[in-house]
Amino acid sequence: MYKTILVPIDLTEDNMSRLVIPHVENFARQEDAHIHFLAVLPPLSSFYGMGSLPVGHYPSEKDRLQHAEAGLRQVAAQFNLPEDRVHCTIAIGAPRDRILLQAGEIGADLIIVASHRPDITTYLLGSTAASVVRHASTAVLVVR
Ligand code: ADP
Repeated sequence: MYKTILVPIDLTEDNMSRLVIPHVENFARQEDAHIHFLAVLPPLSSFYGMGSLPVGHYPSEKDRLQHAEAGLRQVAAQFNLPEDRVHCTIAIGAPRDRILLQAGEIGADLIIVASHRPDITTYLLGSTAASVVRHASTAVLVVR
């Protein structure tokens, strides 16, 4: 039923990513689905603050993207999936916006997210997960 699955990954939260592994593997097996991993980075400009620090103190955008891409591939490698069905994308912006945009671009029919960081127990649905559930036009699996 689900052939194109978007799996947004927060690269700063390994435990959250690990939560979704069995679910993604299970859906992938059912339909030989394509799995699209997406990590969203904050815009570089958000690190500049008041703009008083020299540019050289920050990684170049190219380095940052390469580093993120390597990190995302490492996360993807923890999933037992056929390589030719795995796709990794890095985007820059607000996670909820980029996730919804990417879902449209790839024609996703399912988005799989973790509900929130496992170490935060005071709420049940993180802000990104909540926005995706609210605004997505596809099915969303929220893993707890
Ligand atoms: P919390 O507020 O506890 O961090 P979130 O709602 O941000 O919870 O995270 C829930 C899910 O949203 C994550 O498992 C991931 O799928 C997605 N997500 C959050 N941040 C990002 C990000 N920067 N890039 C891609 N996906 C993200």
